[in-house]
Amino acid sequence: MPRDPEDELQTLRNDHLHRQLRPIDSPQGTELIIAEQPFINFSSNDYLGLSSHPGLIAVYKDALDHWGVGSGASRLVCGTLRPHLELEEHLARLKNSAAALTFSTGYATAVGTITALAGKGDILILDKLCHASLIDGARLSGATLRIYPHNDLDRLDSHLQWAGKKISRDGRIIVITESVFSMDGDHCPLNEIVSLKEKHGALLLLDEAHAFGIIGKGIGLADDLGLAEQIDLQMGTLSKALGMSGAYLCASRAIVDLLINRSRSFIYSTAPPAATAVAALAAIDLLISTEGQQLREKLHHHIGRVSRAIDQIPESQSPILPLIVGSSENALDLSARLYQKGLLIPAIRYPTVPRDQARLRITLSAAHSSNQVDRLIEILKNRNHL
Ligand SMILES: *Cc1c(COP(=O)(O)O)cnc(C)c1O
Repeated sequence: MPRDPEDELQTLRNDHLHRQLRPIDSPQGTELIIAEQPFINFSSNDYLGLSSHPGLIAVYKDALDHWGVGSGASRLVCGTLRPHLELEEHLARLKNSAAALTFSTGYATAVGTITALAGKGDILILDKLCHASLIDGARLSGATLRIYPHNDLDRLDSHLQWAGKKISRDGRIIVITESVFSMDGDHCPLNEIVSLKEKHGALLLLDEAHAFGIIGKGIGLADDLGLAEQIDLQMGTLSKALGMSGAYLCASRAIVDLLINRSRSFIYSTAPPAATAVAALAAIDLLISTEGQQLREKLHHHIGRVSRAIDQIPESQSPILPLIVGSSENALDLSARLYQKGLLIPAIRYPTVPRDQARLRITLSAAHSSNQVDRLIEILKNRNHL
C-alpha cells in the first residue's frame, strides 16, 4: 500500500515540525486581527510599510483602471506590456547594470536563472545558508554543487581552486550568495567574495532580496560598496521592502536575452499584471526619495533599540533579528507564549534553518510605532516568566 499522508503528518507533529496556515482577517500591517483578537505583527518582510502606502495604492488603482487586472499570457506569447519594459529599464539603471528581467516571484527568478545558465559540466558554489529558491535552482540545474560554511572565505577559495582545475574550457563556475541572509540578518563579506570570484574567473550571483530598499541609499549592498558593476548576476525581490510581489535579475544584455530564451519559469508562466510593474516603479522612486530615507532612519532606530535591549539578539544593520532558541519544541513554545501576549512572531524551524537552530525570527518595520517596539522589548525581556 502506498504510504498514508496522515502518517506523514503525524510524523511532522511528533517532531514539532508541523505547519498550519493562520487566517488573518485584516490587511497586512503592523497590527493584525486573528480570531477577532488584535496582534502586533513582528513577522512580515514589509520592512518599510510600503504594502499599505496610500500613495502606492493610488498609483496601483490608477494602473489597474488603465491596464486591467491580468496580463493575458506569457510575455513571449502575447507581447510584452510596456510597464514591464519600463520597470526593467529603471531597475537596470538603478543597479548599474546593462539590462534587467522581471519575474512573477523571487522563487521563479532564482530557479529560472540558475537552470538557464548552468547545467551538466558547470559548477555552482553556494553559501550554506542560501535561500531554498537558490538551492532548488542549483539542484534542478544538474550542475555540480559545492557548499561552503556560512561566509567562510577560506572554504570558498578552496572550492574555487578545486573548480578551476575541474572545469572544462567553456564551463561556467558560479558563486551564489545573499547580501543579507534571510533567517540571520547578517551580511556576506561582499568585497572579499568579489575579489575571490575575479581571481578564479568565476561568475557571481548575488541575491539582494533583504537588502533592496534597506541597505545604504536603499539600492542594496552591491551599490553601497560600489561593487555593482563587478557582479555578474544581481537578483532581488519586489516582495520584501518594496511591499509588493515579483522579482528581478540584472545582468549583461546577452545574459538577459539568454534568459528570455531559456528561463523556463519566465517563458512558461503568465506575466504579472502590468499594474504591478507600474506600482513597483513608483515604489522604487519612493525608496530612493527623501521619504524612503526617512523610513530607513526610523527602521534603523527601531533596530538599534531592540538589539541593544535584548542581549541575545546580535547588533544588526538589518530588520531581521534572530532569537535562537535551539529545539523546534522550545521555539514553538516561546512563540505560543508570545502569541498569548498579543505578539505575532513565528517559530522558524527545520528545514528552513538547521535542526538545532530553531528560532524566533523577529522582523521590524518602519511602520511600527515606538509603542509597539516598547511592547516587544518589555515582553521579550520577561520571556522566561511568561
Ligand atoms: C523571499 C526570498 C526569495 C523568494 O522571493 P519571493 O518573491 O517571495 O518568491 C528569494 N531569495 C531570498 C533570499 C528571499 O528571502
